[in-house]
Amino acid sequence: MGEWKHTSCILCAQNCGLETEIEDNRIINVRGDKSNPRSQGYCCRKGLSLARYEHHADRLAYPLKKVGDHHERISWEQAIDEIFEKLLQIKEKHGGEAISYMGGGSVGGQMEVAMGLKLNNALSSRNYYSSLTQEFSNVYWVDGRIVGKQGIASQPDTHHCDTLVAWGWNGWMSNQEPQARTLILSLHNDPNKHFIVIDPRVSETAEHADIHL
Ligand code: SF4
Repeated sequence: MGEWKHTSCILCAQNCGLETEIEDNRIINVRGDKSNPRSQGYCCRKGLSLARYEHHADRLAYPLKKVGDHHERISWEQAIDEIFEKLLQIKEKHGGEAISYMGGGSVGGQMEVAMGLKLNNALSSRNYYSSLTQEFSNVYWVDGRIVGKQGIASQPDTHHCDTLVAWGWNGWMSNQEPQARTLILSLHNDPNKHFIVIDPRVSETAEHADIHL
């Protein structure tokens, strides 16, 4: 029998409240946290699988160096020294713009972004990519068209809107909105609300649409 602790999921931007049962410094159980005011006990299968990700045998827990056709475990000191040397060589030979930082982004990613961007600056690179450049490029584009600035990254007030247009969003499976399935069902069941899904296939979300295009 472990000890239950309150925490939150960092696998998507909803940060659902979770309770995790900890035994011997390992997560052995996960459940939605009903006391969390935002998610109110909701959590998807990704959050429920946290222990699998956290303790997966294939998870990279220490530096590995490619030697010939295989990888060998090395110390953190050796890894940092060798990577530092290589980055300096690239900078001296090709300039800082030959280097880019890929990381950061939304929840979870902010933990390392402060160091990553400082490293980028130290190497005189302005190149910075994150998962947001793929995941939210549509949001930035739409914000640019609607409010004239692509960097605003607005968030739709999905739980209070009268009409929701889901363009290629299969929230029934991917979530990415607070209590996604509850939201989809509430739109579907309310005769005064409209739920429009634009998707080339009849996704699980499209099955609950008033109009599917
Ligand atoms: S919707 Fe799922 S992945 Fe996202 S924060 Fe909640 S439990 Fe985690």
